[in-house]
Amino acid sequence: MPGLFFKSIEELKGIGKKRVEQFRRLGVNSVGDLLMYYPRDYEDWSDPIPIAEAPLDENVCIKATLRTPMRVGMTSKRGMLISKASVEDESGWVKIIYFNNKYISSMLQAGETYLFFGKINRTDSGLQMISPVFSKPEDGGNIHPIYHLTTGLPNRIVANAVSEALTMLPKMINDPLPQWIRDRWNLQGLDFAIRKIHYPDNADELFMAKRRLVFEELLVLNLGLRYLKSSSRAENGIVFEKDYTADFLSLLPFKFTNAQSRAVRDCINDMTKTKYPMNRLVQGDVGSGKTAVAAAVCYTAIKNGCQAAFMVPTEILAQQHYKSMTSILKDTGIRVELLTGSLTPKNKRLIRENLQSGEIDLVIGTHALLTDDTEFKNLALAITDEQHRFGVSQRATLLSKGNHPHLLVMSATPIPRTLALIIYGDLDISVIDELPPGRQKIDTLVIDSKKRTRALSFIRKNIDEGRQCYIVCPLVEEGENSPEGLLSAEEYAQQLMMNEDMRDIPIGILHGKMKPADKEAVMTDFKNGDIKLLVSTTVIEVGVDVPNANIIMIENADRFGLSQLHQLRGRVGRGSEKSYCILVSDNNSPDASRRLKTMKNTSNGFKIADEDLKLRGPGDFFGQKQHGLPELKIAGFGNTEDIKETQQCTEEILKASPDLSSPDLKGLKAEIKRLFSKTGDTALN
Ligand code: ADP
Ligand code: MG
Repeated sequence: MPGLFFKSIEELKGIGKKRVEQFRRLGVNSVGDLLMYYPRDYEDWSDPIPIAEAPLDENVCIKATLRTPMRVGMTSKRGMLISKASVEDESGWVKIIYFNNKYISSMLQAGETYLFFGKINRTDSGLQMISPVFSKPEDGGNIHPIYHLTTGLPNRIVANAVSEALTMLPKMINDPLPQWIRDRWNLQGLDFAIRKIHYPDNADELFMAKRRLVFEELLVLNLGLRYLKSSSRAENGIVFEKDYTADFLSLLPFKFTNAQSRAVRDCINDMTKTKYPMNRLVQGDVGSGKTAVAAAVCYTAIKNGCQAAFMVPTEILAQQHYKSMTSILKDTGIRVELLTGSLTPKNKRLIRENLQSGEIDLVIGTHALLTDDTEFKNLALAITDEQHRFGVSQRATLLSKGNHPHLLVMSATPIPRTLALIIYGDLDISVIDELPPGRQKIDTLVIDSKKRTRALSFIRKNIDEGRQCYIVCPLVEEGENSPEGLLSAEEYAQQLMMNEDMRDIPIGILHGKMKPADKEAVMTDFKNGDIKLLVSTTVIEVGVDVPNANIIMIENADRFGLSQLHQLRGRVGRGSEKSYCILVSDNNSPDASRRLKTMKNTSNGFKIADEDLKLRGPGDFFGQKQHGLPELKIAGFGNTEDIKETQQCTEEILKASPDLSSPDLKGLKAEIKRLFSKTGDTALN
């Protein structure tokens, strides 16, 4: 098998230079790549349905005979070539139509029977099927693979190339999964899996092939991350002599919750008791007080004579943290500074000088911290907030600015533990699962759009009483046709500004396409209370703290992931006023109703995350791409059972061979290297 990754696909029959280029665009260069180019979907041609029983407007396979030769003509309007024929089976007939295909009339013969695959729809002149895919029954009565394609490269060519490539599989392929693992978890061999993932004979085979490949991929990911973790640990960390947390607590206007104390203790242990650098994720629900935890950890680092850096994804968050840090640390003699892109070049230079000389103890900043000219005297602690916005490599860049500094990663996105173990497999985890006392519950209401006017007057009333509100619109994709009349944030705000009852309210707009500086300006105006009502897309999601805002209304709420809704809801309930989250949705599907009901009844972010994972899979946690993780070909994170099994397997492997040196793990180790080669994690090489 490894040899096939060095064999160009040009060696396959029918693949010339032009095709090679097209395949390259799909990331397929070698025969090995092609074999691992798994179908995105399948068409089941194994069980044709009678025409009369075929559901309309969804993909079906029919087996039917051409009654007459195809008729070829021109369409009247645009002068396109049009080829038509009627095909029938015992139950009925349907018209098949192809546009601009010169060859089709010679490919489909009168009197012959074919399998046709496509959607049937009803028109005034009867049933029709536009451009169905077809094959002779003897060639195609099974499950057909469907691949992701690129311009000019039809599915047929990819499928043929794959079946050609399958003939090149060596008789005996080395299976990266040792026999004992396959036996123990009941997994098929690699040969079966690769053949059947492309060309299964039935649904059972497909299931088994998929299960085997998913298992291997998750295992390789899991083992790789664990391996990274242990190798990054081989370095000597800075061992702090003393824990200053008790002093720090006297600076706070409140008492730590038990969960906060636990998280801080975990960090302090990492930094004082072991010779390895800390490598920890602190996860806490919105409002659980992560900033104070970070401040406590910084305090001990700084009191031990070192510098700390706190990196956040946006300027507005940087300013917010700067404010809270300076207020907590104000009488301690600790020097805190802000380093962001919007500073004047002169100020940036000044701050960088003072970081290098060690005069600044704690710097809070954005990506500006990562530039080459940012140097520290003795950086011993690096903290990143809202970690999933930063990639592994950005984390590494920040760390490279010190001599094996401690790393603390904060995340406000509660993730089910199984998932966290995979995604943050290289980090130790502390969870803040408790909110500070006295928090008011946020009332969550679910309404349909008929009640919007009433909701708006409720918002109006609260603004008149001196408070502020958010309205969140879902992202409208460019070119998306929106049958529901989805409005973009801009259109929505414009309508409000024309609304008799709302137009005298200072309204601000915030969306992703704005320049960072413009966004900051709007956010600052909102924070200062100059803007009363903020209409926005989800860009406000991350950590923004405006205690005076007490209502958030979310339009088309069913379009958001639950974790995302929970993050959005966390924008309110930060002050003393009673707060509300109004979810607007006209979607009555059982799925949507269940999701919105979960939001109404649950305020615990971890429970919501669990439910979200069950209902929609993990895409919602981080958007499509998991930052900094190697790209997975087949596994998702949706099936927690798969994840649990591979974790169990990882543990057993590491127990048996902690450094993966056992000979039967050679294949797995090679796969780990291959998977991680693209993320630049050289520890594995
Ligand atoms: P998040 O975890 O979402 O980052 P923050 O750190 O912004 O939460 O904290 C939210 C608010 O709660 C802040 O105003 C903070 O001062 C306050 N807070 C944090 N910890 C406590 C505590 N133990 N008791 C009371 N208030 C707290
Ligand atoms: Mg925060």
